[in-house]
Amino acid sequence: MRIYKSSRIVIRPDGREIKKSKISMDEAAFRYLQEENAGLCTACASFNFGNHEPDAEDYDCEQCGKPKSQGMDNVMMMGLIHILDDAELDEIKGTSQEISV
Ligand SMILES: [Zn+2]
Repeated sequence: MRIYKSSRIVIRPDGREIKKSKISMDEAAFRYLQEENAGLCTACASFNFGNHEPDAEDYDCEQCGKPKSQGMDNVMMMGLIHILDDAELDEIKGTSQEISV
């Protein structure tokens, strides 16, 4: 089970900088997170556990407190999670932060 987070800074048209995070994982990790009713916060890119149905929307995040935690099917539809195979994960390993769950 492997999960990586990579972030980049994006400059918005109004000049503000925002950090965009992308989560990449293998299929086993995605299945595990679904089974555990995990959610991903779109504000701080942290995982929350235990109370998210797959279609959960805007639940309170335990890490940052914002109502921005989404169920796994939702984040998948939003394009925030990328499921990659081992070779692809090896390629991004150097530029990403490994997340353990
Ligand atoms: Zn959060």
